[in-house]
Amino acid sequence: MPIHTEIYRRRPDVNCVVHTHPFYASALAATDERLLMVGQDSLLFADGIGRYDSPEFVVTRAQGEGVAAALGDRRAILLRNHGVAVAGDSVAHATYLALSLERAVRSQLAASQLGAVREMTPEEVRSITRYLSTSYHDALPNTWHYLLRESGLGSR
Ligand SMILES: [Zn+2]
Repeated sequence: MPIHTEIYRRRPDVNCVVHTHPFYASALAATDERLLMVGQDSLLFADGIGRYDSPEFVVTRAQGEGVAAALGDRRAILLRNHGVAVAGDSVAHATYLALSLERAVRSQLAASQLGAVREMTPEEVRSITRYLSTSYHDALPNTWHYLLRESGLGSR
């Protein structure tokens, strides 16, 4: 819980923290590689991803403060040899970010296995994220209801 508590304490803009151990993003967290801008999922993290450089369980306030500080103003953090945490402005937003981060890392892995990765340029990232920042918030309710239906939690 110190992960969640200290992120909430440091970031009044955050209303939901999701901490998970997703397979691909956790694997990235066990490397020194960065998330490449290979597709729209990765663009959600164009401002960068925090890194918490310890594999220890985060059980003390000081450790939680370390995670929150390493997250900074970003949306996601990789916890070395552990997992990830994402910070959203709602449950739907944070869930979407967590799922998108995992898809982004899977896309990066697939692209790197297919050939030389053609990462988007900073100019392309800026241009596309300007559009995404409005459109994906508009689409979030529909995406959230889709995810609920797919998980069996939503109404048909
Ligand atoms: Zn954990």
